[in-house]
Amino acid sequence: MPVAYLCDFDGTVAPEDIGAAWVVRHSPVAETVRRALLERWKHGEIGNRELTVAECAGLRCTRAEAIAFTRTFTLDPSFAPFAREAQDRGDAVMVVSDGFDFYVADHLARAGLGDLPWAANHVRFDEDGAITLEFPHTGGCGRCGNCKAPHVQRYRAMGYTTVLVGDGFSDRCAARVADHVLARGGLLEWTRAQGIAAREILDFTAVAAFARELADGRGAEPRAGIGT
Ligand SMILES: [Mg+2]
Ligand SMILES: [Zn+2]
Repeated sequence: MPVAYLCDFDGTVAPEDIGAAWVVRHSPVAETVRRALLERWKHGEIGNRELTVAECAGLRCTRAEAIAFTRTFTLDPSFAPFAREAQDRGDAVMVVSDGFDFYVADHLARAGLGDLPWAANHVRFDEDGAITLEFPHTGGCGRCGNCKAPHVQRYRAMGYTTVLVGDGFSDRCAARVADHVLARGGLLEWTRAQGIAAREILDFTAVAAFARELADGRGAEPRAGIGT
């Protein structure tokens, strides 16, 4: 059975949270207000879509400024080799982000991975320097901007074993439905608290090792009882 790797971007494919850094750098929202919003999000009081809209209120930035800023960050150098090895094996790799499209596409292209499928929220850079957020990926829980669960379920419906790779709270919906979860950071803590089986990974070197095990038939059994 082919395997689909659904990979979170911020904090996973990119070791740092590029989207959050961009918002902090350009948003006029006060730090105290932003921290309060983050707490409400972590406790499930608001979803990521509502959080993102609130955090970006009044944000002004041109596309050129945005790209110049986000290019100061890098991708995990082991991501591209992992993706190519997986694709050569016949597996699928997709980047699923609840961050923003402009830097996901830019970074993937610069890494020579412009052909990789990805999905993220859309930032429209307006003529007057303002931005408009758009959420083209509807479906799922209705609280995420780009809910990752439907992406996992789409690959499963195509006959793939699904693996979610992530680090944060925006990966929770996908982690609930994926066959395997590879996690670090807040997502790892959350899976442990929820009793969801997950393997700890530090970077894509570890993901590549897991992928080879799975391809060789040495991998862990998929979690039982996951609905489609
Ligand atoms: Mg993340
Ligand atoms: Zn969701």
